[in-house]
Amino acid sequence: MRCATSGEPPVPPPVPSNFSLPAARTAHRAAARRLSIWLLSAALLITTAWPVSAQSPLLFPEQTPRVALDPGHGGKDLGARGPTGLLEKNVCLALARNLALRLETRYQVILTRSDDYQVELRQRTAIANQAEADLWVSLHTGAGYAHAARGIVLYYYADAGQRQPVDDMERMVPADDPQQWNQTQKRHQPASLELATALKKRLDSVPDAPQCSIRGAPLAVLEGADMPAVLIEIGNITHPATEARLAALQDGGWLAGPIVDGIQDFLTRHQKSRGY
Ligand SMILES: [Zn+2]
Repeated sequence: MRCATSGEPPVPPPVPSNFSLPAARTAHRAAARRLSIWLLSAALLITTAWPVSAQSPLLFPEQTPRVALDPGHGGKDLGARGPTGLLEKNVCLALARNLALRLETRYQVILTRSDDYQVELRQRTAIANQAEADLWVSLHTGAGYAHAARGIVLYYYADAGQRQPVDDMERMVPADDPQQWNQTQKRHQPASLELATALKKRLDSVPDAPQCSIRGAPLAVLEGADMPAVLIEIGNITHPATEARLAALQDGGWLAGPIVDGIQDFLTRHQKSRGY
C-alpha cells in the first residue's frame, strides 16, 4: 500500500470503462441505504439492551403518588429498648430506609426523618401535609410485658370516644370547621381503615407471620395527618423472642415485602382520585 506521507500525490483509483454518473449515484445510494439500515439496527439493539428509563434520572410527573414514611422516635428520643439493648428508633429508621428504597422506583417517597435525630410529633405530620402525601405510614415497635403482646398492630386514628369504625363518617366532621387540627384525620378515617385493611391482608398472607390486628386509637402523630394514615407497631421489642425477630428485620426481611404490596394495593385503587 502506498504511504500517504511519502511525498508522492495519491493516485486516484482507475475509472472503469463502463463508468457513468447515474450508475455511480445508484451505487452510492445503495451503500447509503445499507449504512442507514445498519445504523438503525444498531440503534434498536442499543435501545433494547439499555432502556432509556433505566439511565434517566428519576423525575416524577406531578401525578406520581407520594408516600410518607415516618420512622418513630430518633435522636434523644430512643423509643422502647429491647432486653439486649436493641432500640426502637434504630429498628424503625432501618426499616423505613429499606421501604423507601423499594417504593421509590414507583412512588415519590417522603421520610419525616432520614437519620438519627429528633422530630416533634406535629412536625412529622406537618412534613407529610406540606408534601401533599397521598398516604402516611408511621413505623414503631410495641413495648409491654404481656406474653400475648407479640403480634403486629395496625392503628388508624379514632378519638377517645370512638375507638371502633363507624358507618356514617359525615356526622363526625363539624361542617363549620372542617380544618381543625384534631378533626383533620377524622375526614380520612374510612380511607385510613381501608389502608390498614390492605396492609393486614398482605401481612396475613405471609406463612408463619405473627398475628396481625387492626385497632382504632387517639394517636397524636396521626390526628393532624391530612391523608389516609396508619401507624404500624411491628412487634413488641421488650419481648426477648420478638427483639431477636426485629433485629433481623432491619434490612426489611420478610416484613418489607407485604408492607410495600399493601401500600401498592391501596394506591392502585385510589390513583385516579388524586384530583389533578
Ligand atoms: Zn414508638
